[in-house]
Amino acid sequence: MIADELGRADDVERVLIDEKVIEKRLDAMAEEIDREFPSGPILAIVLLKGAFVFAADLLRRIPRPLDIECLNVSSYHGGTESSGVVKFLDHSLPDVKGRHVLVLDDILDTGRTLKAVTDRLLLEGCAAVHTGVLLAKDRPRAEDVQADYVGFEIGDEFVVGYGLDYRGRYRNLPFVGVLKS
Ligand code: 5GP
Ligand code: MG
Repeated sequence: MIADELGRADDVERVLIDEKVIEKRLDAMAEEIDREFPSGPILAIVLLKGAFVFAADLLRRIPRPLDIECLNVSSYHGGTESSGVVKFLDHSLPDVKGRHVLVLDDILDTGRTLKAVTDRLLLEGCAAVHTGVLLAKDRPRAEDVQADYVGFEIGDEFVVGYGLDYRGRYRNLPFVGVLKS
């Protein structure tokens, strides 16, 4: 397929989780986070680019003061397999000292991203790292991590949509789906 053609909704073979189901689940997740998180403003750290749609929809459902920061990290570098190396693409990190942080990522796969980000934030002096992901793949993790808040458990297959890309495209699909091969 030529590059300009990538990104159409009809490249999708199967919708895995549709928009309405995602919205309903986010209502419940936001409620759970608000209930369980220590009182005071939450510092949300959104992992770009994949988590921007999930974070926007989730954080607007949390009715308390929020600080929002973004971190640009990369492990897939555009393909369909994790490269195994987590790169921090920002020159500086947000000030997290003493804060309870909620790290949001699109999907938990090998676990390397959440592990690398969690370790880094703890090193920067944050009080605690809580983690939330829209999706968690049912597969062995390379790192011993789990997310505190999980939207949906899915099978071990490559998905796009709702923030997740293939070669930079499909992030704007309003659902999570599997591409035609
Ligand atoms: P991990 O570090 O847990 O292996 O992978 C997390 C990152 O890999 C996610 O933030 C996401 O960017 C990418 N990733 C993992 N699985 C998928 C997938 O099925 N589809 C897409 N588009 N990205 C994925
Ligand atoms: Mg990512």
